[in-house]
Order: sequence, then C-alpha cells, then structure tokens
Amino acid sequence: MRMTLGNYHVHNQEQLLTQKQKQQQRQKQKLAQRISLRLDIIQEFRGEQFRVEAICPKCHCNLTIVQVIKGFNRDPHDTTTGCPKCEERFQSHLYQSNSYSRTTIEFLCPAQTLDQLRRLPIFFPDEIKVKNFTAYSSAIFHFGNLTVAFKELGIN
Ligand SMILES: [Zn+2]
Repeated sequence: MRMTLGNYHVHNQEQLLTQKQKQQQRQKQKLAQRISLRLDIIQEFRGEQFRVEAICPKCHCNLTIVQVIKGFNRDPHDTTTGCPKCEERFQSHLYQSNSYSRTTIEFLCPAQTLDQLRRLPIFFPDEIKVKNFTAYSSAIFHFGNLTVAFKELGIN
C-alpha cells in the first residue's frame, strides 16, 4: 500500500515537472517569436539589421537570443550574460548593419539600456546615436524605437 502511494506521489511530481517544463518551453518560444517579429519590423522600417552573438568562452555553447536575455543580470553595471550550461559569465555582442555600415557593440540588457539613456542630456535620436551608439542600438533591439524606450523612462 505504502509502495503504491509512493509511486503515485513520484508519478504526480514527474507530471508536474513536465507540465512546468512544457510551460517554460512555450514561454521561451513566445519570447523568441516576439524578438524575431520585432527584428523583422526594424529591418523593414528602419533598414537596420541586428544579430546577437554569444558563444561561451568556457564550454563554447552558442547561446540563443532567449538564453542571452535570460542570462542577463538586471544590474546596470554588469553587461554580461550567463551560459545556461556551465554558468560562465561573459559579454555578448550585438551586430548592427545597414546599407552603409556594419558595427559590433556590447549587447546591453533592457535595464542597462534605459539606465544609459537616462544619463544622456539630449533627446534627439540622431544625437543619441552619435553620443552612445551602444545604448542606441540596444534600445532599438529591445524596444523597437527610442520613443518606446523613453516612454519606459516616463519621458515623452
Ligand atoms: Zn558555457
């Protein structure tokens, strides 16, 4: 009797775990789809292409964009992401390109992007692009455009 109950309990826990894993998997897929759609829109309307590159220097795992975003610390001073396999922390990069140029910059998380934008005394997109290209590009990547990013900061 005890045996049966024990098995039942374990079975139930496994089911719960699988459900939770399935739910997490669905959330990751949704996030990946949202990012992919946003990048398509940015390319269509701004003519800018973005690609994130994050290869773990320790175990050489090639992180997906969702893994990079999940690995960020929400700390304005720490721009690294974490490897889901070996937990090594390292800097990921954002490749930005248009018809004229190709640039590689440090990829910032949304919290770091907003923190850096907040520190800029100027609000014209072209000036921000020149003064802090890293924050500008990460803002486009995370928010689609600067207007949305400034709305996040409560600035219209
Ligand atoms: Zn690793």
